[in-house]
Amino acid sequence: MTAHSSSGTPPTATRRTVLGALGAGLVAGGVGKAFAAEFPAPPSGLGARPYPDLLRPLAKGRRKFGYAIVGLGKYAINQILPAFAECQYAKVTALVSGDPAKAQRIADQYDIGKDHIYTYENFDKIAQDPEVDAVYIILPNGLHCEMTVRAFKAGKHVLCEKPMAVSVGECQQMIEAGKRAHRYLMIGYRCHFDPLTQKAVKLLNDGAVGDRQIVTTDNSDINDPRHDIAQTWRFTRALSGGGSLMDLGIYGVNGTRYLLDEDPVQVRAVIVPNKDPIFAHIEDTIVWTFLYKSGAVAHGSSSFTVNAASAFRVQGNKANLVMDPATSYWANRVNLCTSGDVHSWSTPMFTIPALNQFSAQLDYLAVCVAKGQPPVRASGEEGLQDVRLIMAMYESAHTGQPVDTAQWADWRKTL
Ligand code: NDP
Repeated sequence: MTAHSSSGTPPTATRRTVLGALGAGLVAGGVGKAFAAEFPAPPSGLGARPYPDLLRPLAKGRRKFGYAIVGLGKYAINQILPAFAECQYAKVTALVSGDPAKAQRIADQYDIGKDHIYTYENFDKIAQDPEVDAVYIILPNGLHCEMTVRAFKAGKHVLCEKPMAVSVGECQQMIEAGKRAHRYLMIGYRCHFDPLTQKAVKLLNDGAVGDRQIVTTDNSDINDPRHDIAQTWRFTRALSGGGSLMDLGIYGVNGTRYLLDEDPVQVRAVIVPNKDPIFAHIEDTIVWTFLYKSGAVAHGSSSFTVNAASAFRVQGNKANLVMDPATSYWANRVNLCTSGDVHSWSTPMFTIPALNQFSAQLDYLAVCVAKGQPPVRASGEEGLQDVRLIMAMYESAHTGQPVDTAQWADWRKTL
């Protein structure tokens, strides 16, 4: 076997691109229009990787799309807030936190005025804040729905972290609230904006592995509230909605869907017993199998007691595509393996000049609002479909029976 880097693409084939193609629909009014009016017209026909041709700085003095960050925890502070530095169209303009001292410290760092710091109690006043176009909800999962509905009532667009919510009903409420408010809803599936993920999807859709037959995915990390008190909410069902599957397995569920370009018709799952009392209310390790109409099969796992697993393998009749790591913040890798060769792609080749996944995600909603086109990548409907499948997996784990998901397999056709 020889290993080398290559940017060559295999022969093309026609398959629907889950990550590509923007749709038209809702017209974003109000705040969205104000931003759109000042936005330099982007080139038409955003494709699977729109960013390089959008890499134009806004003219001096032009207004950027303003985000309020809700919940100043690890992900917000360490990944999202710093990512604004590389955004072309978005900036952070407000903060929402239950910890005023922390909020003030961060506001000083990002040059945010006192008038733009909110608490959860007075959050609804954000409706009168002209600097805020969208609200980015980075709270424990059990608070996503309530805060999304409040943000829509305040007339803002919403970017909400994954998992979208802790039940199918909550996801539906969020989608309905967005429609009522004529505002857009997007879920924080950052991998859809990762150049390596986009490369993998393109390779697969272009026929690089041939018929996709088996997907394997593992997504795990050590989580223990006794070592990191901030993790406590992840072990409290009302706030997390579940254990490793809600937190990490969801990358496998969502990723398997875009790598296979198909949704399962049957799911089966088993929760591995763990007597450690921290797992009294949520699962540690869960393993699953998905069956597809095409005959493909996927299996996966997630765990809070396995360290640093983040991988996909797509096996076809022509080749194997391996992503390992697949969903990390910075250093993802794609290998295309045939019996005699390995082609490798790693992050640096594709991040220049494309933006990093965090900034790209933040800019994407700004572009959607400016164009008056609802987010297709990482839409609320995508978030709902993942939560439906996760709930079916829990049902299967608890009943010991497979769960039929065929009724939702063609959900895209209903959009
Ligand atoms: P943290 O615990 O680090 O942060 C959550 C923040 O929410 C807290 O710091 C706090 O902020 C606020 N909060 C409000 N109410 C509560 C409460 N009852 N209990 C705990 N915190 C509360 O979590 P993460 O940042 O790791 O995760 C937040 C969300 O982001 C989750 O939905 C998670 O799934 C998602 N996430 C997504 C990632 C991705 O790659 N897309 C990666 C990591 C997380 P304050 O003190 O300001 O009020």
